[in-house]
Amino acid sequence: MKAVALVSGGLDSRLAAKLVRGQGIDVLPLTFRLPFSHRNKKGSAGSCDKNTLIRRDLGCELSNIGLDDVFLEMVKNPPHGYGANLNPCIDCKIFMLRKAAGFMRDNAAEFIITGEVLGQRPMSQHKQALATIEKEAGLQGLVLRPLSAKLLSETIPEREGWVNRDRLMGFCGRGRRPQIELARELGVEDYPNPAGGCLLTDPDFSRKLKDLINSAEFNLENIELLKSGRYFRLKSHAKLIVGRDEQENNLLAGLAKEGDYLFYPGPDLAGPTSLGRGAFSEGLIKLACRITCYYCDLNGIPDARIFYKRIPAGDEEFQRVSPIGQQSLQEFRR
Ligand code: SF4
Repeated sequence: MKAVALVSGGLDSRLAAKLVRGQGIDVLPLTFRLPFSHRNKKGSAGSCDKNTLIRRDLGCELSNIGLDDVFLEMVKNPPHGYGANLNPCIDCKIFMLRKAAGFMRDNAAEFIITGEVLGQRPMSQHKQALATIEKEAGLQGLVLRPLSAKLLSETIPEREGWVNRDRLMGFCGRGRRPQIELARELGVEDYPNPAGGCLLTDPDFSRKLKDLINSAEFNLENIELLKSGRYFRLKSHAKLIVGRDEQENNLLAGLAKEGDYLFYPGPDLAGPTSLGRGAFSEGLIKLACRITCYYCDLNGIPDARIFYKRIPAGDEEFQRVSPIGQQSLQEFRR
């Protein structure tokens, strides 16, 4: 008997998979590469990567599914609407379960396991939402949620005796204590804190994302840019991202693609690297230089040379500019 377990690397999904594995089911772990995951933050997911953790928990390899343009379209227009920010959790889960159903069939598995806990999230983890998600994914009775199973209707795997309902849990709500106790019991270690790995639930990120949607620039390359730096909309067709530290400066330089501009101070001045994407007129180049200059360590000098070049092979040029005023700066900030 095989089952597909949707795992995020977070504690709940790992516990759910492990509980069912402990009942002798061959568990196939599956994860999704989401364009809205945090870029690997130091310490955000314990000391090991997701693959290593799953191999340690379940003794098998993790499969990955990337989400495509259809997923992005859904994020733009979710039939079930958004949560508190731009998080379309119900449609997102339907989407992932449909993908998982295909994986289940391809691998001759019988059902799907998720780490959802009843009442843990307001939009998508109450009884009615769970039922809607399951139904619209075409998986009625085939989604087992081991952490809350005792509080939910019996699923086919329980009814058929493939898994023993009595050995599943009845967790409910946002508290973490029962999960932490269960983790200790099952030997699940090195789990991240539950800060939420999805940027769609983050108000700042959602605000920037909305700007991309409104500017018809909603694609994977631009979404990646939103994960670092300060974000400025200079014109409907031009934006600037300003690095906040050396790591972000390097990252932005690495993300620059053909046609983008990089702005940076000369070697005698500490300051950020900024990435400009879009159609940059002379006026916008000057504006980008002035914004970059604002974040330089000017030490009282009134102006500075800000260098820029067009990627990949533009000549390096510079403008001597004064920093933009704070009030003007805010007009462009998103
Ligand atoms: S939090 Fe993000 S990844 Fe999770 S269901 Fe909601 S939209 Fe999807």
